Amino acid sequence: MGTIKTERAFNILMATNRRHYTKTNPYQDWPQNIVPFLGIHVCLNLSSMVLSFHAYSLDALNDKLIEGATVLDVGSGSGYLTSCFARMVGPAGRVIGIEHIPELVEQSIANINSDDPTLLTGGRIQFFVSDGRLGYPAAAPYDVIYVGASTVEVPKTLLSQLKPGGRMVLPVGKYGDIQYYEQLDKQEDGTVVIKKMMRVQFIPLTDEAAQMQSPEVLGFHPHDYLVLPGYMERVSPQVLQQLPLAAPNWAEKLNSKSQDALWE
Ligand code: SAH
Repeated sequence: MGTIKTERAFNILMATNRRHYTKTNPYQDWPQNIVPFLGIHVCLNLSSMVLSFHAYSLDALNDKLIEGATVLDVGSGSGYLTSCFARMVGPAGRVIGIEHIPELVEQSIANINSDDPTLLTGGRIQFFVSDGRLGYPAAAPYDVIYVGASTVEVPKTLLSQLKPGGRMVLPVGKYGDIQYYEQLDKQEDGTVVIKKMMRVQFIPLTDEAAQMQSPEVLGFHPHDYLVLPGYMERVSPQVLQQLPLAAPNWAEKLNSKSQDALWE
């Protein structure tokens, strides 16, 4: 963690301004809920920073997020990673975002419209309100399946929608227990090679009713919501600067700009 290995991931993160995906302080460094009072969180372990986590994910998927690739983004939330994926696969690619909370889908559409509406109007990104555990068979098979919430076991239905040669990345393990961020590569013969990448802590991929229960169920105190309502993953430029990035002149680029101007 804490490293961007590929220049491409760095460039995509730089091109995807978090400001469009959160209301304020888009560059702060802790996981937050995206919509207030809904009990929706991105939760990573304390040693992990969210931006570096996003960088890690894009790095892990870099080889597969090629021009024209088809991607399934399960638990698309704010749409931030959905946009990053769409930028990576280019105009010939296709990204399906599945999210079970309708308000979040509406918000993610508004976010992307504020960032770059052509990602939606051109059909590169499509969102559906549904249960991500079922995937989205109509556009399967996928080169990449990314799951932004944890499951105790790898969902077979999702795996069946992965192309031979494709890659799935997801957090596996019980919520509140040890979870690993895993990379699953489906071979041409259909067998799957699993790589455990790191310890994480994600909210569960669950049904809507369970997610809407009290925040304590997800391990957060309601106070968090009152103090910090409504903002998703926030990362500071200071944190960015500490990352040993591969891209040239990154430190200069970041140092030369104020926080607000960083992503302009
Ligand atoms: N990747 C997202 C954040 C993921 S947080 C981003 O960049 O913003 C996990 C998301 O999974 C939440 O938005 C949550 O609502 C969603 N989720 C949880 N269970 C789900 C399910 N069964 N089907 C679809 N989405 C689900």
